[in-house]
Amino acid sequence: MKITQYIGEITGAFSATIKHAFAKRDTVLYPEVKPDIPGRWRGRIILTKTPKGEERCVACYLCSSVCPAHAITIQGAEREEDERRYAKSFEINFARCIFCGMCEEACPTRAIQTTNDFEMGEKNRDSLTYDKKALSVDGVGKYPDFDYFEHTGVPIKGKEVGDNVDENKPVDVYSILP
Ligand code: SF4
Ligand code: SF4
Repeated sequence: MKITQYIGEITGAFSATIKHAFAKRDTVLYPEVKPDIPGRWRGRIILTKTPKGEERCVACYLCSSVCPAHAITIQGAEREEDERRYAKSFEINFARCIFCGMCEEACPTRAIQTTNDFEMGEKNRDSLTYDKKALSVDGVGKYPDFDYFEHTGVPIKGKEVGDNVDENKPVDVYSILP
């Protein structure tokens, strides 16, 4: 590197420092004034419900399988009345979570969702493990109209395949073979 180029780079770096040292401060008086968090921020994770108020989670374990931090622990079970699967227990260890959002991407029922709540500081690690009660909200989250069991494509009690919303009757593949 030539000496003139070297001096030019040092001068440029110092001028940037001096410029910022005297620039107008953009101070936000948090926590009195909350910062403007973008809607797609990946913060605190919640478990949502369908528009009918039922739990969306069907304990498929996709979120826990995809989680790179192994932060999710689920125990699945079946409801007695209609054999629908649900999460008997659901825990997220936020001390491990890296807020990557992969659990949300993987979830077929849109049960697990990230939110723009970032205020999750705790004084001890044990408090960062949220159980199902702490994760569950009484609302639909980002998808107000979505109900997995209206779109699922599998038979459930009282409905055959093809009877669900936006769903066609299954095609008999043998009928379309040459
Ligand atoms: S956001 Fe990422 S790290 Fe956190 S629980 Fe979901 S998949 Fe795991
Ligand atoms: S939150 Fe979604 S991905 Fe995770 S177990 Fe429940 S239904 Fe499956």
